[in-house]
Amino acid sequence: MPIPFPKRKVSRAVAAEELAILERTYPHAVTALEYRTPFELLIAVILSAQCTDARVNLTTPRLFARYPDAEALARADQDDVEKIVKSCGFFRMKAKNIIAAARALVAEHGGAVPADRESLEALPGVGRKTANVVMSVAFEEAAFAVDTHVFRVSRRLGLTLATTPRGVEEDVTKLVPREKWRHAHHWLILHGREICKAPTPQCGRCPVTMCPSRKIVARYLALKNSAGPGRPSGVGGGARRRPRSS
Ligand code: SF4
Repeated sequence: MPIPFPKRKVSRAVAAEELAILERTYPHAVTALEYRTPFELLIAVILSAQCTDARVNLTTPRLFARYPDAEALARADQDDVEKIVKSCGFFRMKAKNIIAAARALVAEHGGAVPADRESLEALPGVGRKTANVVMSVAFEEAAFAVDTHVFRVSRRLGLTLATTPRGVEEDVTKLVPREKWRHAHHWLILHGREICKAPTPQCGRCPVTMCPSRKIVARYLALKNSAGPGRPSGVGGGARRRPRSS
């Protein structure tokens, strides 16, 4: 059974304190994806669904050496692209989507990546999360992308009780000044990767001492240890839902 999330949101004051700690802890947080242009970022984000950024970074140099822009990728042979992106998982769908997205960029945007949500979400393989990442990272627009780390950490901190990425986005953006939305995304991702990890959060190393999950995690681990290997028993709470990737 996964670690339960808090059943109540923290107060606005506590949320502000939690977020201020994350901001101080990760002041220079940026995306881990390597890119040189909005086109490269868009393709890297599509490839990153259900895949690590490190794996994407190992894949994209070869892809972009062969297909450096939308015009080149729009003319690509799908089999060739599939071979290059194979290690990213779901490679057939991803190859199909990035070629189709490149064709749409050429046909509708002169080969450039649009900066607005509506145009981005109209591209094949691009959902709200991908659009938010491209808007916030490539164009420095106010957008807050919710990936699996942001979803989990926001709920553990009691910033939201939402069970969908869109709900988490709506709740957290009410707590963060608009000009910091794009940074808050990175604070939460980094915290999720480095300390508030999915299977076992490292609460002993965590600077967010007022986090409402601290006691929940301690109780969960105590039950798990007393039950021996396998699942802990007697831990309440609903099932944890993962956000859908875009
Ligand atoms: S105290 Fe534990 S559960 Fe809360 S944010 Fe820190 S690592 Fe995550």
